[in-house]
Amino acid sequence: TVSETGAQDCDVLIIGGGPAGSTAATLLARDGYNVVLLEKDAHPRFHIGESLLPCNLPLLRDLGVLEQVQAMGVYKPGAEFVSDRDDRRVPFPFHHAIAAKEDHAYQVVRSQFDELLFRNAAKNGARTFENTHAVSVDFHAGQRAIVTVRDAEGAEQIWTPRFVLDASGRDGFLGRKLRRRNADRNNSTAAIFSHFRNVPRRDGDMGGYISIHLVDQGWFWMIPLPDGVMSVGFVGDKPAFQNHSGPVADLFWKKVKESPAVASRMANAEALSELSTTGNYSYRADKAWGDGYYLIGDAYAFLDPVFSSGVLLAMQSAYRGAEVARAWLQSPELGAKAATAAERETCAEMRRVSWLIYRINNPVLRKLFLNPRNILRMRDAIISLLAGDFSGKLRVMAPFAAFKAIYALFSLKKEN
Ligand code: FAD
Repeated sequence: TVSETGAQDCDVLIIGGGPAGSTAATLLARDGYNVVLLEKDAHPRFHIGESLLPCNLPLLRDLGVLEQVQAMGVYKPGAEFVSDRDDRRVPFPFHHAIAAKEDHAYQVVRSQFDELLFRNAAKNGARTFENTHAVSVDFHAGQRAIVTVRDAEGAEQIWTPRFVLDASGRDGFLGRKLRRRNADRNNSTAAIFSHFRNVPRRDGDMGGYISIHLVDQGWFWMIPLPDGVMSVGFVGDKPAFQNHSGPVADLFWKKVKESPAVASRMANAEALSELSTTGNYSYRADKAWGDGYYLIGDAYAFLDPVFSSGVLLAMQSAYRGAEVARAWLQSPELGAKAATAAERETCAEMRRVSWLIYRINNPVLRKLFLNPRNILRMRDAIISLLAGDFSGKLRVMAPFAAFKAIYALFSLKKEN
């Protein structure tokens, strides 16, 4: 409805039409809520982050898009970690995951994948707007938020939703406005990436594997995409970038040359576009919610993508964000309760996977991680995490705790 002042009402206004925003919009719209989804760009738009995890599949099935994702993606049966020092290649096939319901995932061109999810939200009844961005938002306790929006024609609109979900990704619309965003001191990395042709895939059954090359001061990803394209990126810690001046492309190719395993795969590589960079990587908002709003996906927190966890975490937090919105629309008290529980769950999930992420450049961790023995099912527990099982199941967390204990022992031994 439009009020006398020209302000437009809705139940839930969602800022950002990436995987998090489109997921939440679909869930709420199909429950019959009046949902508005704003996207500042127009789909299809480029986005990095193409490798999905097996635990994405039940969510995609529930949203009704799994078949389309299967048709557009490259079948991904596992992840391969490559040790640069001795060129050891260690496959982690997903069918070894403990209690796995899915033994594979897909690698997708994100412009296609994100457009599919966005159009699916519209199909389920959300009102979607492209080239339309949220400019400012005012919250007043006990009243509707006032959201100022710039539409595709450059005109200003005022929306007065009953609840706001911030799904604006790394832009962090609300987190920045409310000064709630903190850099993650445990993980200060940056990435340089592009799409390439003429980068060979692994042979045979391994052709769909993502390769993570563990190199000096960081790691490379190689993600096979349809039509012979390979997404390649270097993620480096601070020292990798600190002493570099000049174009980032030079740094990228320097790191390629330093690694024999990467250099041999990139020997004939042809970049399909200029290299892009993303700096100041990991962060988290100090709180996921407040009176009348909740933060989902990268708008809340971002973890280094070494385990390809971003889209899954974003979609899982969107399911929780939708739950919080439903509760809030019943009463703010119920909403606050749901938001507290949802934030706790999201944090716990991130903690489970971030223990490994924070240590991925640590030589002791790398040595143990690349050791393919499966005593006490430790390796299977790691594969479960690589498959996206961050749920905290005892069957996974107990052998993972054993792995952590062995890591602590080895680290102590090294110090002495
Ligand atoms: P996004 O996908 O970023 O969507 C946010 C949307 O909000 C954007 O479309 C943006 O245009 C829009 N927006 C922003 N501000 C506004 C505004 N004011 N008004 C309206 N719209 C707005 N994840 C994986 O799962 N696998 C990977 O292999 C992987 N690799 C990665 C590599 C790199 C280098 C990086 C940086 C990330 C990677 N990720 C990966 C992470 C993954 O891309 C993200 O976690 C995921 O896109 C998060 O989804 P989202 O919907 O929260 O945010």
